[in-house]
Formats: sequence, C-alpha cells, structure tokens
Amino acid sequence: MKDNNKKYDAIIVGGGHNGLVAACYLAKAGKSVILLESNKELGGATASVKTFPEYDARLSRYSYLVSLLPDQIVADLGINFTTIDRSIASYTPYERDGKNDGLLVTSEWDETTTNSFRQLTGSDKEGKAWCEFYSDIALLAKRMAPTMLQPLKTAEDLKSEMGLPEVWRNLMEVPIGEVIRNQFSDDLVQGVVLTDALIGTFTSANHMQANRCFLYHLIGNGNGKWRVPLGGMGALVNELHRIAISWGVEIKLQSKVTSLESGAMGVQIETESGERYTAKDLLFAAAPQHLAKLRGSEVPKSLEGAQMKINMLLSRLPRLKSNIDPRLAFAGTFHVNQSYSQLELAYTTALNGKMPPLLPLEMYCHTLSDPSILSDALNEKGFHTLTLFGLHTPAKLFDVDPDAAKALAKERAIASLNQYLLDPIESVLAPCSNGSLAIEVKSPLDLEQEISLPRGNIFHRDLDFPFLDAESSRHQIWGAETDDPHIYLAGAGARRGGGVSGIAGHNAAMALLSKNEK
Ligand SMILES: Cc1cc2nc3c(=O)[nH]c(=O)nc-3n(C[C@H](O)[C@H](O)[C@H](O)COP(=O)(O)OP(=O)(O)OC[C@H]3O[C@@H](n4cnc5c(N)ncnc54)[C@H](O)[C@@H]3O)c2cc1C
Repeated sequence: MKDNNKKYDAIIVGGGHNGLVAACYLAKAGKSVILLESNKELGGATASVKTFPEYDARLSRYSYLVSLLPDQIVADLGINFTTIDRSIASYTPYERDGKNDGLLVTSEWDETTTNSFRQLTGSDKEGKAWCEFYSDIALLAKRMAPTMLQPLKTAEDLKSEMGLPEVWRNLMEVPIGEVIRNQFSDDLVQGVVLTDALIGTFTSANHMQANRCFLYHLIGNGNGKWRVPLGGMGALVNELHRIAISWGVEIKLQSKVTSLESGAMGVQIETESGERYTAKDLLFAAAPQHLAKLRGSEVPKSLEGAQMKINMLLSRLPRLKSNIDPRLAFAGTFHVNQSYSQLELAYTTALNGKMPPLLPLEMYCHTLSDPSILSDALNEKGFHTLTLFGLHTPAKLFDVDPDAAKALAKERAIASLNQYLLDPIESVLAPCSNGSLAIEVKSPLDLEQEISLPRGNIFHRDLDFPFLDAESSRHQIWGAETDDPHIYLAGAGARRGGGVSGIAGHNAAMALLSKNEK
C-alpha cells in the first residue's frame, strides 16, 4: 500500500470528458485536484481511436456528434474545439409500390424538403406539421438551455419560467408517442421524429422515459443541432487534457478506484494497485452504480443499454437504390427501419428476448463534413468513415452467448442497411491485410467491459427531467449532491448529465465551489 501524503482539495474519479471539465473548473478556481482514470487513455465514451491499425483513420469510437455542450463551458475554459454544421439533417430511404425513394430533410427547411415530404405523403400537410412541431420546441430549447448550468428549479418554477405550457405538456407530461401520433399521420414521418426519444434508451414510445431522452436530443445549446466534432470526439478530450494540465491538475491513468471511505475529515480512496489518496471532497465522474458499490449503498435502478455501435472504414461510399447522391444521403442522419411501427415492433421483440430481425439503425458519415480524421492519402483515394448506431439491442440479448449474439446483430444490421444499397456495404468496406474487412462492432457488453458503462447504458443510468422532483432530488441544488456532503456526482449519471455536454462536470464543480463559499 502506497500512501500519498498530500491532501488534495478534490479527487476526481473518472477521466471521461465530464471528469476533465470538473477538474478544469476546480483547478481554475485555485483548488488542488487529482484525477484518477482506470483505463490507459482519457476520454471514456468520447475517445477517438485508430480503429484499423494499418489505416491512418481516427474514428470516434463511441460518441460521435455534439449538441449538448454549452458554448458557455467552451468559453469559460477556453476550449479550442470546433463543431461543424451539417447541411442535411436526415435521409430516410423507403420502398413504396416497388419504387425506391427517400425522405430528405435539410437542416434549414427548403424547397427540396417540402418536395420530399410531398413525394412521400402526397400533400404538404405533414411537412407543415413538422415545421410547427419543431418551431415550438425550438422556443423551449432556447429558454431551457441556459438553465442547465444554473441551480435546479422545481418543475412548477421551470414551467412558469418557460412560458410555453402546451410545449411543456407535450414534452414533460404526456407520453411522446401519443404526442407524435396526434401531430403526424405518416408512419415513416412519425418514426423519424420518434428516434430522438429512443437513442440509447430501451423503451416504448408510450413510456415517459422516451420523453426524457427526446428532450435531451432537442434542447442542446439552445438550438438542438447535432454537429460534427472537428477532428473527431478525441479532439475535445485532447483539449480538456491540455487545459487541465495547464492549470496543474494531476492525472493518473490505469488507476481504478477500488475502495472509498468518507468521514468528517474528508475522503480517502485506494486504487487497484494499492495507491491511497485523500482529499476534502470527491467528485465521482463515473457511473452512480459504481459509486453505490464502492460505498456499499443501494445500487440505483436503471434500464440497461440497448444500442450497438458499428464503426466502418470505406474505400468509397456505396450507391443507393433510390439513386440519390450518397454524399447527400450519408451527410446527415441516415435512418433505416425506423418507422413508428417498426420501432415499436423492434422494442417488443427485444423485450421478449429476441434480436429484432429488422434492426432499427441510424448512420452518418463523419468524413463528408470533416475529412481531417483521415490522412491525406486516404482522402485522395476517396475513403470515408461510416458510423452505425443500432437501436433496441439490449444487453440481455448478449448475456448467454455474447459472440454469437454479436455476430447475429451485425448480420442483421448489415442486411437492414443493404435493403437500400445498390452496392452491398461489404463490397465497399476497406480490406485489411489479414483478410478481414474494416468494420468493428461494439455491443452493450463491450461498452461495459471497455469503458465501464453499466450494462452498456450510454448515459450511465436513466435520464431525469432537468428539474427537481418531489423525493429523489430534495437534497439537491445542482443535481450533483449525494447524501454524503463530501461526495458529488460529476458524470453523465448526475441529474442533467447524459451525452457529451460537460454539464455534469460543470455543475459538480459549482456545487463544491459554492459549498466552500458558505
Ligand atoms: C456508443 C456510444 C455512442 C454515443 N453517442 C453520443 C453522441 O453522438 N453524442 C452525445 O452527446 N452522446 C453520445 N453518447 C453518450 C455520451 O458519450 C456519454 O453520455 C458521455 O460521454 C459520458 O461522459 P462522462 O464523462 O460522464 O462519462 P464516461 O465517458 O463514461 O467516463 C467515465 C470514465 O470513468 C472511468 N472509470 C469508471 N470506473 C472507474 C473507477 N472505479 N476508477 C477510475 N475510473 C473509472 C471510465 O474508464 C471512464 O473513462 C454515446 C455513448 C456511447 C457509448
């Protein structure tokens, strides 16, 4: 056992982006901070990796788009990190009456989008409903986003501050499935809207958990835009690392925290290799389930993770049966098997323990917006990356035989995608020298094993609404407080955590700093 004699102001457990954001705020305020990360690399779910070693391509291995990171955090910390707008919001291929076509939605509504809705639905009604629906939500997003970096309010106070009772009711009080069914009549349009309620969340459209997920997907930074991280997600981590070091944060990698004690004098932790550290306070930026185990307290209940992530390197983009230019189709979010009825069917199939035959999935091509993650040589040859996020593949489907389940899920994802491609995806995957193709598959169990996401839950645990509720958050001000005055939640599992936002890290740092001011 090795005692480190120094007593820090704060120990941070977990070197994902939230742990780093918390460390930066505290160190900037003059606190002595040590950050302990169990893996060999920082970043957690925000890592960029040279996935296929013989190709100079750094893929965002887990998370891939940014919406929730507030400009205020970027400015406060001086983070030199840029995100790029996508000109295409989404493309959803479909086959009707034997003809292949697709619903193309541009990021700024235009004539092409109007025509695309008309082509699908036969009138302008659905397109108009879309514009109304999202313009109401945009107002809420603008008003709600700044509150994410303020002390929590009660639902009543926040609702009255928002001043949009109808939108509030739709998002916070009525199941989102019901709202979507009332607003839209086309199954495919309903499904494209619904997907934002299901990303990383194993639920039906009729459960309120879908509303929480939907809200987080639409209020990011006040505009809900999902933007491409220039240089990949790892660029954010590199910047946070640089800033943390510049303010004197000590960082220890391969330092898994395995025991934790807390008392009137502060906290003491021990790592797997027997190092001991003490501090006045501890910010826990890994999952709350891990904190509960370390403290011997009740592990918070949560849905399990339900997504697959497939990363691909392509020697060229595949052509589509609908004949659309693939540079348009894959620039935004490319939806497959995501009509409303398909999403609900996939959910009930998986709930009953079966891998959905028509896997709902969405994809996007990073390199169409940002070629900088590829070497010049790969760009010159026309290579591209493709990111696939599969829904409704819960961890339990992988428990019995993880390898077989992963192979089945991969096969179904590829078959689902190939329904709409003229060139099957296998024909354009970059070949590797060992005879394999440049494709990697991550199941929820892989996410648990590699980056400690409990049962692969990408938000650590179920998302909460961003306001105080009656019982669970009575003792909270920032959403970071626990029942121990020396321990704060600073990761995605804090109230208002979830996603690449840094909000949980910021709020935990504010909770600690405001305590010290008292
Ligand atoms: C496949 C996938 C796709 C996603 N896509 C997006 C997306 O496009 N956009 C988006 O906004 N969000 C996305 N998310 C969600 C988002 O990435 C996460 O919610 C967020 O990054 C969590 O950040 P964090 O810093 O709170 O925690 P994490 O990134 O989970 O970091 C926690 C860190 O703690 C470490 N750790 C755990 N236990 C210990 C211990 N005992 N001791 C020391 N260290 C420990 C872990 O190794 C890890 O590095 C995605 C997530 C996944 C997995």
